[in-house]
Amino acid sequence: MYTQFELGRNFLVRAEHNSDLIQFVTELAEKEGITVATFTAIGALKRAKLEFYDQEKHEYREIALDSPQEIASCVGNISVTDGRTFVHAHAVLADKNGNTKAGHLLEGVVFAAEVHLRELKGAKLERKYDTVTGLSLWET
Ligand code: ZN
Repeated sequence: MYTQFELGRNFLVRAEHNSDLIQFVTELAEKEGITVATFTAIGALKRAKLEFYDQEKHEYREIALDSPQEIASCVGNISVTDGRTFVHAHAVLADKNGNTKAGHLLEGVVFAAEVHLRELKGAKLERKYDTVTGLSLWET
């Protein structure tokens, strides 16, 4: 099963210093009336929280990074969960030595970051709780 979308507007936006990257992308989407999109981001974070999903316990384990990090890569998408804008992002973050940690990006305090948001137009893309994985997944 899959859903096809048309490419809508493209946004290149500098994320606000000290904002939370996830919150920043959420607010940008809501302000522009975007409910489905993909995005990438590069730049640097002051600190971040990543998560690893334990596939047996069905729970997230937090990986706190309390030092400055380069956003070596950040990819994500936007859809709707329980009627609200939901931003899902994963990131590869590099410390001052270039050592990386990666995972589900829970939060990241922006030092400086550039976001490329690509609006997708078409059907509504909603997440629903999936009993097999314990995650909220797309209903396509
Ligand atoms: Zn994730």
